[in-house]
Amino acid sequence: MSLLIIENYIAGQGQPPCRRQYLDNVNPATGEPYARIPRSDTDDVEAAVQAAERAFPTWSQSTPEQRFRLLNRIADLIERDLEAYALAETTDTGKPLSVARSVDIPRAVANFRFFATAALQFASEAHPMTNLAINYTLRQPVGIAGCISPWNLPLYLFTWKIAPALAAGNCVVGKPSELTPVTAWMLARTCQEAGLPPGVLNIVHGLGPEAGQAIVAHPKIKAISFTGGTHTGRHIAAAAAPVFKKLSLELGGKNPHIVFADCRLEEALQTAVRAGFSNNGQICLCGSRLYIERPLYARFRDALVQRVQALKVGNPMQSDTDLGALVSQAHLDKVLSYIELAQAEGGRVLCGGQRVQVAAPCEHGYFVAPTLIEGLGLHCRTNQEEIFGPVLTIQPFDTAEEALALANGVDYGLAASIWTQDLSCAHRMAEQLHSGIVWINCWMLRDLRTPFGGIKQSGIGREGGWEAMRFFTEPKNVCVKYAEG
Ligand code: NAD
Repeated sequence: MSLLIIENYIAGQGQPPCRRQYLDNVNPATGEPYARIPRSDTDDVEAAVQAAERAFPTWSQSTPEQRFRLLNRIADLIERDLEAYALAETTDTGKPLSVARSVDIPRAVANFRFFATAALQFASEAHPMTNLAINYTLRQPVGIAGCISPWNLPLYLFTWKIAPALAAGNCVVGKPSELTPVTAWMLARTCQEAGLPPGVLNIVHGLGPEAGQAIVAHPKIKAISFTGGTHTGRHIAAAAAPVFKKLSLELGGKNPHIVFADCRLEEALQTAVRAGFSNNGQICLCGSRLYIERPLYARFRDALVQRVQALKVGNPMQSDTDLGALVSQAHLDKVLSYIELAQAEGGRVLCGGQRVQVAAPCEHGYFVAPTLIEGLGLHCRTNQEEIFGPVLTIQPFDTAEEALALANGVDYGLAASIWTQDLSCAHRMAEQLHSGIVWINCWMLRDLRTPFGGIKQSGIGREGGWEAMRFFTEPKNVCVKYAEG
């Protein structure tokens, strides 16, 4: 089978990497390489920055209406090609095609549409000093923005950064994950067809420590919007600090899912399964620590085991598959090693716990059974470290105070979910949770206008809505004094 050759997208054109070196891109459901991607380095990033620099004066002066129309046109074209995009996302990530079709690609479309309208509606503040002067704030694009994204929701998260950066009048040098580059490559073609001017968006493929590092280090890239692991985020923060780049870091999570005995049980059960195992647990927002109030514990656990056992792990192309493949051999090894660790730490595997053999053509794919583990305390590594796979721990609690202490007892602070009909209790807990996002009686219910992001080791800064538009602009205060008299 001939391999698909991916190109960088620089100055509006597909470009091979300067060094002509490539990396294999593997289909995780089959374990077979199916594409080659540029192994770009500083020279490619330099070319991308130069293209962005040339495009910036015109793009930053374009009207909001022009940006609105272009971003909407990109959304229309992705929507037209939804099936091809979904197929590519599934082939790259191993996620079920049904999920790529209904979640990943529609959300990429929504990102462009949402920020198209943000371009039209963005406004800035004025601060009058009565009878003396008026201050008004100009919000100007930062210049060239670097957008670096992970593999779990490839096009969804890449466009979540690119769309607001472009809407605010910036040019972009973007890098998708080297594990899942294909939809970003398709996006380049879509942007060409939409008529996005050359150099406004540039996409460089390659490894994090090479192409990614070159973006972070480039002096002409003024802001970095990064989503990925906490370890990488720490490295990027250290590299960006001496040159005072603007930084938005969306990092890992170890999110508590707290269920009280008075919850609406059916909804709570269904959502606990979704929160634990959607996208194979490879979502930063996944509820990976499940805390159940003791009177409900045994009933909830037993019902959960039944439901988790009923999930079908299999070929992502089949319509009845619930869980596809994990993204790579390395990630499979990591997840399996955490399941071993959990047992060594005293955890009991209630279901799952092993690799799954799937029939041809997926016999070499990276499949793991959805796994539920009980009997572990807060301080073990299994409950402290992000696994980012289909592994959920479950533990009882007796009081709201105890639930809060368990929820807050990790270094991460991204999202939390509370299940109860006692709204006073829910609001009080929401106030006290160390978390950037709290869901009450729901999970992953998203409104793109709301601030999105975490605290502690889950990152700094917020994405979404005006937060994103503010991140991608620099405020400049202009103070005008009135004439005397
Ligand atoms: P990762 O940190 O390994 O890689 C993310 C991106 O950074 C990739 O494009 C990678 O090539 C690049 N990169 C790696 N090293 C780099 C470096 N030194 N300089 C610049 N770029 C570099 O993360 P991953 O494994 O792709 O993604 C999984 C992680 O992402 C998980 O921890 C997950 O929680 C997190 N995540 C967070 C959010 C959020 O919104 N908070 C959303 C999705 C995923």
